[in-house]
Amino acid sequence: PSSSKTPAETPKPAAPPVKLAPQKVVPEVTYVLVGAGTASFHAMQAIKEKEPDANILIIGEESHAPYERPPLSKELWFNTVNKNDLKFKDWQGNERNVFFFPPESYQLVEPAQIESILSTPVHDASKVRWIKNAKVSALDVDEQVVELDIGRKIKYKKILIATGGVPKSLPNAKALPADVQRKVTTYRGIDDFKKLHNIAEGDKTIVVIGGGFLGSELAAGLAQKGKGSKLKVVQVFPEEGNMGQIFPKYLTKWTTEKMRKEGVDVRPKVQVDSFEADKGKVAVVLNDKSKVVADHVVVAVGIKPSVDLAEDAGLELDEKRGGILVNAELEARGNVFAAGDCTSYHDIALGRRRVEHYDHAVASGRRAGQNMVGEKKPYNHQPMFWSDLGPEISYEAVGNIDANSPTVGVWAKGNDKVKLNADALPASQKDGKLDEQYGKGVVFYMDRKKKIVGILMWNLLGKVDVARSIIKQGKTYTDINDLVTLFNVHQ
Ligand code: FAD
Ligand code: NAD
Repeated sequence: PSSSKTPAETPKPAAPPVKLAPQKVVPEVTYVLVGAGTASFHAMQAIKEKEPDANILIIGEESHAPYERPPLSKELWFNTVNKNDLKFKDWQGNERNVFFFPPESYQLVEPAQIESILSTPVHDASKVRWIKNAKVSALDVDEQVVELDIGRKIKYKKILIATGGVPKSLPNAKALPADVQRKVTTYRGIDDFKKLHNIAEGDKTIVVIGGGFLGSELAAGLAQKGKGSKLKVVQVFPEEGNMGQIFPKYLTKWTTEKMRKEGVDVRPKVQVDSFEADKGKVAVVLNDKSKVVADHVVVAVGIKPSVDLAEDAGLELDEKRGGILVNAELEARGNVFAAGDCTSYHDIALGRRRVEHYDHAVASGRRAGQNMVGEKKPYNHQPMFWSDLGPEISYEAVGNIDANSPTVGVWAKGNDKVKLNADALPASQKDGKLDEQYGKGVVFYMDRKKKIVGILMWNLLGKVDVARSIIKQGKTYTDINDLVTLFNVHQ
């Protein structure tokens, strides 16, 4: 099955802090939310809106209260930040931090208190109960019981599985000596940010492997942090350019040049053959026989959805996309819901999908929460995603954005109107040399029947709902001339 367990990819369970006495009582909680991430947090809020006194328990493997991941590869690298409070200014200049709510706004339940606290009714409904550093290691969907790796069982009435995913690793790092192996890391959370922020100082070389969302955002952020110092950032990946899996070729090439101008040494079209220890550093050996000696290597080669718990519980998985199969109401079976990165759901306009983006985690988490309190509404939100490669490149997208699809791009340069078909570009444009022409634009992605299945909006904010409605209405290639005006590309 798609979720075959590789030890290298499974996060280490938190060690039990104290030896707990055998459990006497199995407490019951109304709503158990597995995973203290974006989807769980928004499910929690939706439940409380409907049932303010709800008895909710969030169980998370991390030591942190629910937080947003997007700033960890963007704003936090462009601001002077205090690593410990994780405060930053967003691109509009507003001061924020990564936590949805301050950690003290939850009622933290220590392992030794699980039986006593969870067996008493909720007295302070303003505080949701939260167990940290604990992994839900087993789920019995018939008895409606979860088991924690710290040796405690908890009964539930309704459960949400919002376990996200874990970064994939590259197996060839395993041959390195342990001290050098520690210099090849993945990146997903707060602790990874703090660690890399500390490492990225002074006369060092950092290699980022991967040219997707995370690799490209992090490379841009690291290069920004390194400005004015001797920090070198090298990015390697197999595609022709940055974001090569989702952008049309000309935009990929242009973006790669932009990344280079920002100080990233981008090396496309290469695979990592192996890693070698090199005087306490890591040599990354590429398949073009070149070698980059790094002080640290960040592996950003995608995630594997965390579905082991669901699989072991006998829930059905999507073999192709690797997520927990849910129905339109986000239910995997009676009283068991799933949301966020780990879920395979049916998109009414685009068919079955598994989406690894923030807006989907928020909206599916909310819908699951509403349905856990009995609303029984379908999930029909069309998720968007956004990315920033520094303050100058910002894009948003809706639907299936796949570089292999035919596209039509419309770009503005001053008052000129430029309409491009990505498959029929003159060579100069294919080389990505039209610098200013990619200042602002919209790209339509089509399926084989020329139906518009995805829309990318480039430095063009506030048009996401327009894009959603185009996809919902099933517009096609022949409608594009009329649709372009809705995006105000030339204003
Ligand atoms: P997660 O946020 O991963 O939360 C799942 C939680 O469950 C984790 O804390 C995990 O430790 C915990 N868990 C897993 N298994 C268990 C278990 N058995 N027991 C207990 N706990 C468990 N998306 C965008 O659209 N735009 C962006 O700009 C963007 N930037 C990003 C930047 C970074 C650095 C990263 C890593 C991701 C970014 N994303 C972005 C993606 C977005 O953050 C994810 O899609 C979103 O976090 C998914 O939410 P989730 O709740 O499904 O999973
Ligand atoms: P990704 O799927 O976007 O990109 C994976 C990249 O790794 C691709 O360039 C791919 O070719 C490359 N790759 C795969 N195998 C490789 C190998 N063996 N050697 C070298 N390169 C290899 O995943 P990601 O960039 O790692 O992001 C991780 C997760 O975080 C994803 O779920 C992503 O959606 C999410 N994320 C999203 C955003 C955003 O939406 N703005 C930002 C950061 C992270």
